[in-house]
Amino acid sequence: MPRVLLVEDEPAIADTLVYALETECFTVTHALTGTDALAAAAREPHDCAILDIGLPDMTGLDVCRRLRETSPIPVLFLTARNTEVDRILGLELGGDDYVTKPFSPREIVARVRAILRRTGHVRQSFPSAPTTTNLPHKPAPAAGLHHDASAMRIHLDATTLDLTAHEYKLLLVLMEQPGRVFTRDQLLDHAWEDPGAVTDRTVDAHIKSIRAKLRAACPGAENMIETRRGIGYSLQPQIHPARK
Ligand code: CA
Repeated sequence: MPRVLLVEDEPAIADTLVYALETECFTVTHALTGTDALAAAAREPHDCAILDIGLPDMTGLDVCRRLRETSPIPVLFLTARNTEVDRILGLELGGDDYVTKPFSPREIVARVRAILRRTGHVRQSFPSAPTTTNLPHKPAPAAGLHHDASAMRIHLDATTLDLTAHEYKLLLVLMEQPGRVFTRDQLLDHAWEDPGAVTDRTVDAHIKSIRAKLRAACPGAENMIETRRGIGYSLQPQIHPARK
């Protein structure tokens, strides 16, 4: 159940949002001030924060900055004035979003869902990956790549790839079903124990690093991982630079 940190000092707005979110099966921690919010965030991890900009003790932007010192938690900002929107847009928004008051609770729930989807949460809403037994035939292994399960290493021909733990898991997921396109969310789900702590860009960064290591092992091998723009990544079973 996704856990949302709601920071809003107007009780009427907060009550409405808590009700709407809890009805939609979110667990909500409500804080009236920035200080309380930071204390709550330190007590337990949250999947997403909803931050009112105008708080009694600090701004929602300050709260965001402080939260980000310890976690990449995605944020939905609530703003009362257009002047605040400019300041929000001045931040690097990434997986974040904002809404202008007045808003409907339904809109907030939809935005929170979208943020969680983008950042790898609400996993049950994704079509589940087909299992190997459902496939009409076992996919061809990717040329040249070998997995040594006992050593937990991946080799490209005779070269052992020096992968980090996440790179290893990512590449393994791709290798298990060559040709299948995985969305970033699916890759996050497979390769990270806590996908909420990372964003789509994390997947991109790791893929980039894996490609560099493939290339170092054999120039051209980086093309084995294909980018499907706007969708995700797949490993091409046929491509192997040394055999072209
Ligand atoms: Ca306020």
